[in-house]
Amino acid sequence: MILKEAPSLPYEGYFWIIDDKVVGITSEVPRYNYTYSLNGKTHKNTWSKFIDDYLVDDKKVEWDYFPRGRVMVDPEYDFDGKFEEYSCIVFLDKCLNNEHYKQMIVDYYNLDLKTIHRVKWSMLSERAGIDHYTCHNCRKQGDVDD
Ligand SMILES: [Zn+2]
Repeated sequence: MILKEAPSLPYEGYFWIIDDKVVGITSEVPRYNYTYSLNGKTHKNTWSKFIDDYLVDDKKVEWDYFPRGRVMVDPEYDFDGKFEEYSCIVFLDKCLNNEHYKQMIVDYYNLDLKTIHRVKWSMLSERAGIDHYTCHNCRKQGDVDD
């Protein structure tokens, strides 16, 4: 008898960190027949689902108020088309760049797998100088630095 255990699969998607919790959109990434299912989905056009649940001083806030980020996972194959491993990169707000939040993100998206050798963490806003993953707090600090 051959017992087959279903492989543990990672998720990709995007998230906010609100009140020390991950509030996220997830999409499972299979080893084969992967298609990117989050096409056209953004923090901006998803925020309406959450806006009423995460008020600040009883008021609605914009989609870019809370710190946020995005997890991208891709299956990689050898020359014969056999699955080898996942590549994984996480873009995140610079105020989330510490072990506490990274661990929350790893747990939420199931990234602690043998098939993911390394998670790359990228603070896109710092490198590119554009307002990409920048929350209201980081923007305030930016103003002071300038
Ligand atoms: Zn921030």
